[in-house]
Amino acid sequence: MIETPYYLIDKAKLLQNMEKIAHVRERSGAKALLALKCFATWSVFDLMRDYMDGTTSSSLNEVRLGHERFGKETHAYSVAYADHEIDEVVSHADKIIFNSIGQLDRFADRASGIVRGLRLNPQVSSSSFDLADPARPFSRLGEWDVEKIEKAMDRISGFMIHNHCENEDFSLFDRILGRIEEHFGALLSRVEWVSLGGGIHFTGENYPLETFCDRLKAFADKYDVQVYLEPGEASITQSTTLETTVLDTLFNGKHLAIVDSSIEAHMLDLLIYRESAKVTPNKGPHRYLVCGKSCLAGDIFGEFDFERELKVGDRVSFQDAAGYTMVKKNWFNGVKMPAIAVRELDGSIRTVREFTYADYEQSLS
Ligand SMILES: *Cc1c(COP(=O)(O)O)cnc(C)c1O
Repeated sequence: MIETPYYLIDKAKLLQNMEKIAHVRERSGAKALLALKCFATWSVFDLMRDYMDGTTSSSLNEVRLGHERFGKETHAYSVAYADHEIDEVVSHADKIIFNSIGQLDRFADRASGIVRGLRLNPQVSSSSFDLADPARPFSRLGEWDVEKIEKAMDRISGFMIHNHCENEDFSLFDRILGRIEEHFGALLSRVEWVSLGGGIHFTGENYPLETFCDRLKAFADKYDVQVYLEPGEASITQSTTLETTVLDTLFNGKHLAIVDSSIEAHMLDLLIYRESAKVTPNKGPHRYLVCGKSCLAGDIFGEFDFERELKVGDRVSFQDAAGYTMVKKNWFNGVKMPAIAVRELDGSIRTVREFTYADYEQSLS
């Protein structure tokens, strides 16, 4: 038995996403790169590598991890590179995508040995949450002025456009791609590759995969480009849980259960976006507010229904704990860092990482 808290990655569930991704690659001709900013737990890259074309990144650390731990095709992107990191970034990448023409002007020569591209901002997006909306007013994410982009065309061979966020609606994807074609169409036929970014929830249940593949293929054929997808969340969705144990129960007008984890430290993304964690089946007569053990007053995973009364020592398992979760874990309150465990395809569970006091101490000085 592994001591809680720990993240548990289930390879059989991961495989279901991987098989959908492989199908999309085959049917549409698009290539698929794992977005490391969403998920970078490299212990399961051995499985993912066979179903994806490589990785994309948002920093020097990520591009290096992609190159060293995943291999295959490695794309470098960052909102801004520093002078002192660009040579190392280039040494790890097959392609580099600059966020602005300013960055391209600054570093195009030093990146002339690899394929270069530019991020476009079509000023439309699927996101209504402005924190995660690349097309928000005054956005710094990519260039949109066709006249300015024209002048950069001699130094680039492709574009990256990332403007979706967990978009599960194919018709919205289709409409937005149409808008991109209207705005940038003339430029699209002058490049060799176009990455359509991430945020497309095509591995979700009931997503019209075949229609999606047809749309990607039609786009690739029309402009004669290699299409890339950069799935982060879609690659790992539903594959992982955060396993915790109840440490205390209280009644303060509501039944409370305190677990040996913290939403701020171990599932921070939910707190930022003000979402509840997920517990399944979430049915039964006993309702609890499940809280974390940090001293943040609002350290609350959510309110859930249980079949039985919760007692000290009971297990609470939070669903969907892979994307934007392990990459954001932190040492707030010095709460014990969850270990990382993998359920192999044969059902056996292997602990791949445990964190100690030394890790906590060394995270500061
Ligand atoms: C965040 C990001 C992704 C991955 O997004 P998901 O929503 O996790 O699929 C892909 N490409 C770029 C450029 C990103 O910033």
